[in-house]
Amino acid sequence: MESNYAVEITGLKKNYGPVQAVRGVNLAVKKGEILGFLGPNGAGKTTTIRCLLDLIRPQAGKIRILGIDPVKDPVAVRAKTGYLPGELHLEGNQTVEAALNYFNELRGRKSSRQEISALAERLDLNLKAPIKNLSKGNKQKVGLVQALMGQPELLLLDEPTSGLDPLMQQEVYTLLREAQAAGATVFFSSHIISEVEAIAGRVAIIRDGVIVEEADPAQLATMALRRYRVRFRTPVDPEPLTAVAGTSLIRRESAHEVILQVEGEVDRFLKILAAFPVSDLQSEHLSLEEIFLTFYQKE
Ligand code: ATP
Repeated sequence: MESNYAVEITGLKKNYGPVQAVRGVNLAVKKGEILGFLGPNGAGKTTTIRCLLDLIRPQAGKIRILGIDPVKDPVAVRAKTGYLPGELHLEGNQTVEAALNYFNELRGRKSSRQEISALAERLDLNLKAPIKNLSKGNKQKVGLVQALMGQPELLLLDEPTSGLDPLMQQEVYTLLREAQAAGATVFFSSHIISEVEAIAGRVAIIRDGVIVEEADPAQLATMALRRYRVRFRTPVDPEPLTAVAGTSLIRRESAHEVILQVEGEVDRFLKILAAFPVSDLQSEHLSLEEIFLTFYQKE
């Protein structure tokens, strides 16, 4: 039976000598979905993506890309996938056009000259420019064109908008939405929260080689993470409050005022707070940015 998933990762583990880069990642991306893959530097994003294409071999785990095992048939996986590496190595003494033609030759999936020109035009990339003269952002555009050309079923993109100006970032979002509308699946890593919010239907957050959260961006924004500013009539030691499970002290404004963060159920926190001489209580909304930072830092 054909799978509904474009990417299925089960129990993925990858060590570099003593470094455990990926420690049991489980993640599935449905066909037609745009998944944003977030996490702090060194969390294991690039390692995971490279395993999906069999560019590196994991120590353990099972991967299926569009139903194919990349270890058994990496060529079939590459033929169906557009891949943008974090750093694309390009031969400097050729033009952009020659480099793109070379990538095109390597693929089973051929794209037309018109398609390549149209993509280059959308990204304001000069096909006649020598690679060696390109800025970082323009090199990134070459990487994007070679990933998008030929309309692959799956796009695996390691930080797709890295080095691009805001206008070009928007154009990339449009291109990715168009790819999705045409039936493609997009799996992209990012550090830019607004970009994930703008295009991803779902986000997965990786930290220290494990997935710590998976949700849709709207769900994350409304999740049970509240911040309370509490003012007391008399000076107070907030220690008993922070002892409540899920509660942490964000800031002590003065002897009379604290900011506390409560994750999950608030009932126990409010009952313990009731024993304090509270003069005012304000609940503060957390931005998506703050929610992500909490996940990035969580023990
Ligand atoms: P960033 O956001 O900085 O790109 P990342 O989430 O993509 O980070 P990875 O590049 O997958 O993280 O790295 C995960 C861990 O593996 C890090 O501790 C990194 O130092 C280590 N690592 C990655 N590649 C190698 C390698 N070739 N040899 C040894 N260690 C490596």
